[in-house]
Amino acid sequence: MSFDSSPIKSLNLVPFVSVDDMMHTVLDIGVTEMITGIAGYIEQDFARWELFDKTPRVAAHSSVGVIELMPTSDGVEYAFKYVNGHPKNTREGLQTVTAFGVLADVDSGYPVLISEMTILTALRTAAMSAVAARPLALAGADTMAIIGNGAQSEFQAIAFQALLGINKLRLYDIDPVATEKCAANLTGRGFEIVKCRSGEEAVEGAQIITTVTADKQCATILTDNMVGAGVHINAIGGDCPGKTELHRDILLRSEIFVEFPPQTRIEGEIQQLDADHPVTELWQVLIGQQAGRSSERQVTLFDSVGFAIEDFSALRFLRDQLERTGRYENLDMIADPDEPRDLFGMIQRAAATR
Ligand code: NAD
Repeated sequence: MSFDSSPIKSLNLVPFVSVDDMMHTVLDIGVTEMITGIAGYIEQDFARWELFDKTPRVAAHSSVGVIELMPTSDGVEYAFKYVNGHPKNTREGLQTVTAFGVLADVDSGYPVLISEMTILTALRTAAMSAVAARPLALAGADTMAIIGNGAQSEFQAIAFQALLGINKLRLYDIDPVATEKCAANLTGRGFEIVKCRSGEEAVEGAQIITTVTADKQCATILTDNMVGAGVHINAIGGDCPGKTELHRDILLRSEIFVEFPPQTRIEGEIQQLDADHPVTELWQVLIGQQAGRSSERQVTLFDSVGFAIEDFSALRFLRDQLERTGRYENLDMIADPDEPRDLFGMIQRAAATR
């Protein structure tokens, strides 16, 4: 299937990347290459941060989870993601996080890509974590603890291996089956893996701690005594009001880095702090306007919640691979009457072909 890159105004067919297409895209390109590729696009887009329309995501909460819309635009292209977060889902054989999204052309308003984003979100979240960790983790770090060994965990490990050279993992999950799964999936990728029986054991000797658990409560995955000097914390799982992972005391002695403060103050670990507690915006660190890690003993925290620009970057990356991979099908998504105003006539003419 060839990808038609002619002006979108002439297209009524929209490339659609299904879950099956996405799996084959990852296999064709390679998971490491996908993550590093998306990381590069995130860095490009964070470098032009001020150009983007930015808004905290629009969230619909229920007692068991959240459904969110995440829009953004750079004025040329527009993207949104639909994503849910339902920690109880795994007990019912469903994913905690599922997503799909759209990339569109601002000039015509026409969509140019529709994609599954459950897998793409795991790839972009891992890419984002590693992009953030590069200026924040201790130079020469080689060991990472991963607490929470669910759907996101392997992607995180691979991103930190590719972008930071992490080759020792210490895994812990309250469900040992998840740890076994994660360790088995990462076999043969050059990691030295230790399966741990507690969070305390997992953080021993780790210069980076990734928390990526799912629980709809203010949990305490890390207590203050578990975080030694010089550690970088990559906190992924606290991403909703009333859903956090770190004890407040850790936040009080960390240098905190965030994506988009108005969203992170609602959703991130820093919801536990005063509204004016100082945080540093990551985009400013990436372009050299603000310092990242400033001493060997400093505790740095990336309070990750996931921001729309990262999905925009991931969709842009995917769109740019379509011609190479051919892994998509065209969806008949956009009504295309011969005469634009004759929408009704188009239906009438279809009657003749029934
Ligand atoms: P998942 O349900 O597949 O895995 C979560 C794992 O955490 C499970 O294996 C569970 O047993 C484990 N867990 C729960 N409580 C624990 C505890 N107290 N100690 C140790 N392990 C515990 O979920 P997932 O898709 O891997 O997502 C993990 C979290 O990351 C979710 O909260 C999700 O909302 C969040 N997330 C954040 C971003 C972001 O950009 N920041 C992106 C995607 C997902």
